[in-house]
Amino acid sequence: MPGFEIFGDEERRQVQDVLDSGVLFRYGFDAARQGQWKAQIFERELAARMGVAHCHLCSSGTAALSIALAVCGVGAGDEVIVPPFTFVATFEAILTAGAVPVFAEIDETLCLDPGAIEAALTPRTKAVMAVHMCGAMARIDEIKTVCDRKGLLLIEDSCQSIGASFQGKALGTFGQMGCYSFDPVKTITCGEGGAVVTDDAQRHALAHAYADHGHDHIGNDRGAEGHPIIGYNYRISELNAAVGVAQLRKLDTILATQRTHKAAIRDAMAAYPQVRFRCLPDPAGDSATFLSFMLPDAERARHTARALNAAGVDGCFYWYDNNWHYLRQWQHLKQMHVAAKLPAQLYDYCPNYSRVALPRSDAIIGRTISMQIKLSWRPEQLQARIAAVRQVLGEMAQG
Ligand SMILES: *Cc1c(COP(=O)(O)O)cnc(C)c1O
Repeated sequence: MPGFEIFGDEERRQVQDVLDSGVLFRYGFDAARQGQWKAQIFERELAARMGVAHCHLCSSGTAALSIALAVCGVGAGDEVIVPPFTFVATFEAILTAGAVPVFAEIDETLCLDPGAIEAALTPRTKAVMAVHMCGAMARIDEIKTVCDRKGLLLIEDSCQSIGASFQGKALGTFGQMGCYSFDPVKTITCGEGGAVVTDDAQRHALAHAYADHGHDHIGNDRGAEGHPIIGYNYRISELNAAVGVAQLRKLDTILATQRTHKAAIRDAMAAYPQVRFRCLPDPAGDSATFLSFMLPDAERARHTARALNAAGVDGCFYWYDNNWHYLRQWQHLKQMHVAAKLPAQLYDYCPNYSRVALPRSDAIIGRTISMQIKLSWRPEQLQARIAAVRQVLGEMAQG
């Protein structure tokens, strides 16, 4: 997830354009802005790159999730099926919408198991939020088929998987809405930012209004604009959008470098029969931000993650014990620690998250290590890394 590794003159020039115009707002000031519309350019180019009709930029990936839920009409008391291996933003956005996150098992794609959706259905289920974790895809075609058959909305959280695809189609474009993040650690970054994409013109218009206090953006007189709906402020600034324009134009170079680096390490690791790689429904569509692999049991996985980091192979994550991406360590959710009271019905409708049992997900995440793939590795650093990986895996094989 390394967009920040390759900032250069391209980003500087884009930001300079905005500073020279003096207009940091993405709307209006038509005369003053000297033709600079960075957010609009980013939206147009992102939609084209993803092969989707519409894109709306917003202030974060979390904002994108909130916008997607709102414009899909997911709200009070609705249930949304989600995987337990994700980022906390998934359940935050759902709870903030007044809806109920319902966790269902993942499979060896490390993403939601399409076969687990049916068991999680209730009469209140409204949507499935599929999360394409660690740079690669869920079985999104099968998930889509289940959603269509059951009449459920499909929202894709592709915040970690921009540039990845399944059978040539961009992740984020399978469901009704797709969401991306450009936060500081994502594949391309603009400091803070996000985007929703959709082929539905009406949902796009709603997103556009919702993310800016419900304004309809007709004409260029803010005071005269209508408010078709009650919205909120999820706007991106022109400064952030400017960085994003430059970063998006580097996406294909980023993907190519990541894929080369990942393949070199993966090839070396394939010699160790204890190592199983994450299942990729379409390996060619992997964005290769991470190399995720499983060891035979949790004890060896935990030990190996520690040994890899100690041997200088930094950026090896054992998600089962760290509190970033897996339900097991989310004590705040399990105890429903909130700043302000949630809508009363949520306390009735939400399951007790400390009792949610997902034995298959536990078994998979308990054996999984993800190694971050960086852009800035020089050839000799990559070779040193591979040598260290061989050393650690060799010792594990003997021990
Ligand atoms: C980063 C991330 C988000 C949230 O994005 P922000 O821009 O940081 O708000 C949501 N979902 C997943 C899976 C993420 O990795």
